[in-house]
Amino acid sequence: MRALCWTSGGELAVRQVPDPELRNDQDMIVRVRRSATCGDDLSLLAGRAPGLSPGDVLGHEFLGDVLEVGPAVRRHRVGDRVVVCASVACGACWYCRRGLPGCCDNGSTEPAAGEAEWGHPVAGCFGQPRAAGGFAGSHAEYVRVPYADVGAFTVPESVGDDRALFASDAAPAGWMGADLGAVRPGDVVAVWGAGAVGQLTARAAGLLGADRVVVVDRHPGRLLMARQHTGAETLDLRHTDVLAELRELSGGRGPDVCVEAVGGAAEEPRSLADRFTGRRRAPEALREAVHACRKGGTVFVLNGGARVVDAFPTGAVVHKGLTVRGARQHGRRYVPMLLDRMARDELRTEHLATHHFPLERAAQGYALFRDHPDDCLRAVFTPHESPSIDVRPGE
Ligand SMILES: [Zn+2]
Ligand SMILES: [Zn+2]
Repeated sequence: MRALCWTSGGELAVRQVPDPELRNDQDMIVRVRRSATCGDDLSLLAGRAPGLSPGDVLGHEFLGDVLEVGPAVRRHRVGDRVVVCASVACGACWYCRRGLPGCCDNGSTEPAAGEAEWGHPVAGCFGQPRAAGGFAGSHAEYVRVPYADVGAFTVPESVGDDRALFASDAAPAGWMGADLGAVRPGDVVAVWGAGAVGQLTARAAGLLGADRVVVVDRHPGRLLMARQHTGAETLDLRHTDVLAELRELSGGRGPDVCVEAVGGAAEEPRSLADRFTGRRRAPEALREAVHACRKGGTVFVLNGGARVVDAFPTGAVVHKGLTVRGARQHGRRYVPMLLDRMARDELRTEHLATHHFPLERAAQGYALFRDHPDDCLRAVFTPHESPSIDVRPGE
């Protein structure tokens, strides 16, 4: 089959790779209809997540049709249209049984790599390096889906492909940011990042009863989309004193919940000493979220791409009594509910699919996604059909 691979030259190219096969009884093979870019991939492409090897297939947000099922798969039949959660969890370990599939003990093909990086193995993810799963990604004609009964969900007939696609990753991540960030009715919530995850965090906060939701970003096109599609207010950080504005919007206290959904990597080392030690600073958005948050509030970190950083404002966390949390998305916990909301038209996500490309042009899709974030929110690849190039979905 054809797939978008990482090459030895550190670039992306569509290559012929072996078709995936069932390896375990709980596996199934999905024929991909849609597969989207994600900000996480940009950290990989910038070389900040070691462990990608030439020939590895990228992509983790996808939807498709069931082509083949293993003998132990109960919930899916050949021909079902399914959305597959980007993270891979077993559904049976100590963590999965406690509703924390993002912490799954059995989700990774190389648990030792996760242990070396984070102290513990964590759930896997399609199209990521070994520490984060080591499963072939979805920018391909076909994907092997392990633990199919746990990670794949039948899409209600009334929900279109471009909407259901985001139940794979962006919507559960965004929902989790608002949910585990402990958004309560009446809260003021600030979200850094107006990309797909940031917008869906904002929408989730609204649906959970937040009184005001404010999205902060530097890209006017994304901010406009956030206003139009999530009902949030927006702040353009290029022209605004963000901390002062947020305080003004929240009765002088600061937002109750601050969610960092910027994605991408840590800042480059600044000083000569930092360059020698390879030390990177915590992303600006994270530091700003900690400073903006009201005393006793919660800061939720959705971006794991920064890996290890310094210059994290520990003092502010202590003196203001903040709760700082983070998580990889707990897909299974949210995806069925999100699909229900999509079917009820309460949650609309198709506007996030700003550009469509046939798989052959996937590398161009990434370039657009990386270099024109204002214009391209998510490039969506269609390995089995070729809608006219760069179509914008109708409103
Ligand atoms: Zn992602
Ligand atoms: Zn598990």
